[in-house]
Amino acid sequence: MQVAQRIKRFRESVIREMTRLAIEYDAINLSQGFQDFNPPPEVMEAAARAIRDGHNQYSPTWGLPVLREKLAEQYTQRLDWEVDAAQHVTVTCGVTEAINVAMLALLNPGDQILLIEPAHENFIPSAIFAGAKPVAVPLTLPDYRLDAERLAQAVTPRTRALLLNTPHNPSGRVFDEKELAAVVEIVQSNDLVLITDEIYDRILYDGRDHRSPGKMTALRERTITVGGLSKTFAMTGWRLGYIVAPTALSAAVRPVHDFLTVCAPTPLQAAAVTALSMPQSYYDDMLADYHRRREAMMTVLQALAFSAPTPQGSYYVLADYSGIGVEQAQLDSTAFAIWLTKDVGVAVVPGTVFYSIPGHGESSVRFAFPKQLATLQAAGERLERLRA
Ligand code: PLP
Repeated sequence: MQVAQRIKRFRESVIREMTRLAIEYDAINLSQGFQDFNPPPEVMEAAARAIRDGHNQYSPTWGLPVLREKLAEQYTQRLDWEVDAAQHVTVTCGVTEAINVAMLALLNPGDQILLIEPAHENFIPSAIFAGAKPVAVPLTLPDYRLDAERLAQAVTPRTRALLLNTPHNPSGRVFDEKELAAVVEIVQSNDLVLITDEIYDRILYDGRDHRSPGKMTALRERTITVGGLSKTFAMTGWRLGYIVAPTALSAAVRPVHDFLTVCAPTPLQAAAVTALSMPQSYYDDMLADYHRRREAMMTVLQALAFSAPTPQGSYYVLADYSGIGVEQAQLDSTAFAIWLTKDVGVAVVPGTVFYSIPGHGESSVRFAFPKQLATLQAAGERLERLRA
């Protein structure tokens, strides 16, 4: 059967494949980045109520007005410009849709977009959907720092956009002032659009604050700020995300969203208002829980001689296994991840999945720790097998 060339340019999702293997081999699933606990009870109740109350038809394509109002209020504060619900906020089916929509709206076939690697697995396919060429800019190991010079060298006359994800999956980095200044400089001086993926904006450790790049005056008119509810509210299956962008960029993304999905699920949008209205104590408790999970994960990995920088944000550890005391430490990252899943019973993601640059990501695997402490403890017990 004849199929489109574009789908031949990318592989199937290895992360989803690891989840499939985890189920098949009854492994503890630390591969895909979803929680093994529920959203807040009042938010689940709000969704059930919204369905019972009849919020079951298409919403306005840009999102329920009450949800957009809520987001506009929050982003006016965060971005420090007057975000208008009617013009600047578009609710999408997750950040996944938002990134696709942004790229389809911005990029012509042959245009280039800078992707910082390691990168979330979906970014390259999104660029390919748009007919664009993803150009990889690797972070510098061992700390996964963003290097201004490498970024500058990757720009060509065809470069149209840069995608920045902070806090970062899979490295756990929160890019600092100096790194963000490099992004501003590159975007501004090359007339690019910045797409930010800020899905982990509420999960930062050790008192760090999230800074939205779109707040910087120099970037205001050229930033598409993307956020979502999947991670903050433990609702990855609800598929809720959004785009906040100035008028011209919003006008570009909106029709793409409309014709792709029409709207995000209406009753869940209604319940999202309850989620976004949670008191500060919800965020404080969530963050305290994530600190405990990070501690549990790092303690296990360090005891087994995995080497990894402690995450500054998000909920992943990209860990080098070359120093652990079993012979499988010699395996390549795909073989090691499959062995860990099938034989040890802990599913992880091969580091190479996050790179398009050959050889990068070898000897590393990603552990996702948005899990109950009991789950992490059980994983730790299974991983004891790796002790030298
Ligand atoms: N962006 C990043 C950086 C992610 O890590 C993920 C999920 O793991 C997504 C986007 C997908 O988000 P959503 O569930 O909102 O589609």
